[in-house]
Amino acid sequence: MTVSPPGFSGPPRKGHLVFDACFESGNLGHVDYISDFEFDLFIRPDTCNPRFRVWFNFTVENVRETQRVIFNVVNFSKTKSLYRDGMSPVVKSTSRPKWQRLPPKNVYYYRCPDHRRNYVMSFAFCFDRDDDVYQFAYCYPYTYSRLQHYLGNLERRNLPYLKREQLGLSVQQRRLDLLTITNPDHLNQEREKKLVFLTSRVHPGESPASFVCQGVIDFLVSQHPVAQILRDHVIFKIVPMLNPDGVYLGNYRCSLMGFDLNRHWQDPSPWAHPTLHAVKQLIVHMNQDPRVSLEFYIDVHAHSTMLNGFMYGNVFEDEERVQRQAVFPRLLCQNAPDFSFSNTSFNRDVVKAGTGRRFLGGLLDDTSYCYTLEVSFYSYMTAGSSAPVPYTEDTYMRLGRNVARTFLDYYKLNNLTKDNIPTPFQNILYNNPIYVLFLCYGAVCHLKGIKEASITHWWECCAKHPAISQVLLPKLSYLFK
Ligand SMILES: [Zn+2]
Repeated sequence: MTVSPPGFSGPPRKGHLVFDACFESGNLGHVDYISDFEFDLFIRPDTCNPRFRVWFNFTVENVRETQRVIFNVVNFSKTKSLYRDGMSPVVKSTSRPKWQRLPPKNVYYYRCPDHRRNYVMSFAFCFDRDDDVYQFAYCYPYTYSRLQHYLGNLERRNLPYLKREQLGLSVQQRRLDLLTITNPDHLNQEREKKLVFLTSRVHPGESPASFVCQGVIDFLVSQHPVAQILRDHVIFKIVPMLNPDGVYLGNYRCSLMGFDLNRHWQDPSPWAHPTLHAVKQLIVHMNQDPRVSLEFYIDVHAHSTMLNGFMYGNVFEDEERVQRQAVFPRLLCQNAPDFSFSNTSFNRDVVKAGTGRRFLGGLLDDTSYCYTLEVSFYSYMTAGSSAPVPYTEDTYMRLGRNVARTFLDYYKLNNLTKDNIPTPFQNILYNNPIYVLFLCYGAVCHLKGIKEASITHWWECCAKHPAISQVLLPKLSYLFK
């Protein structure tokens, strides 16, 4: 959509901005031309639900070098916002493809007399390259296709402890993926299995949840000794995107048909809420299976008004159960610098009765724990810091890794890691891998009576030896990661 000055006809000139949001997870309703320097932007409401207008994601091109503009996002459906605390939109462009947050000093959030005293977020921007396409978004996008690409790559690694299944399809026939991560030997054993169930992106605009979820998955499938122990003792089931249509469409909170799926856990319909229906069926089914003990259900979200990572839990009459429920968040607080136990709360609000946490909290027995894990759209405060640290894609993923690691502490599997504490010999191996490789090479040359050495020859000799190719090299690849 080209936004030219009113009354102008003919092909757009350079500097007549061309806006576009017709791409995956894109969202922009329409744009009003105010002046050559100022534009009012309207967020397209969620499909079939005009109440929600928060997520935006659009591109701008046909700009002039050094063109300065002010964009006013004028129809947010929420008034309370982290924009008051310094949050800013993210931007990237063709020549700078890494997302960055705009400087907070260029962002203003205020009640605007021109827009019926609605809250308006205005930001100033200076375009600096003629040919670049600029993209602006509410937060770092994480699309359905990105997830499919990521899961496809994982699947091609043929890891014995990872299984990907299609648990169902969305209304628009997108995949509802389910990952199972556990050591296959563990599945064959007779004793009862501990199971941890994780879901994310029921609310499609909450893209940070996907980075957290990917952090969990990346860690659990890694060669990290803690991940190996967890796979030996726990079954992880992960649904990384509960609302793929909503994510694809660029909605903030709802599915294609305008439902907030996190209010329909009590009675999901197979045709109106098929993804939720499939996940609920699976959980109910597993809960009846005497061979598994469903111990955790964690639903990952992003929060638009609070800082840090934190959790919501349920309220119980039984004080001892309340205390037990607080254990995991306490442990997570020790492992994750951005996780706040003081922001963590336990409630039974009527409005949250249809959420996964509340519904499953009532369904599962008293040895199961159901939480919502929230992470701020904006930033976190660490213990010693005075200023908030804005989240990046990487720090969202780090929170995911720390969530996964916390299960080790929770299940007191720490003593098992003792087996993995290196012996003095292994220490030399870990700390001086190149030196050890050369030693091996020296030994091989000596044994074979080879006098002339070359790096290629060295590599061939070493790589062929089973002790090196099967034991040493995999360890090295981990060290270099
Ligand atoms: Zn949410």
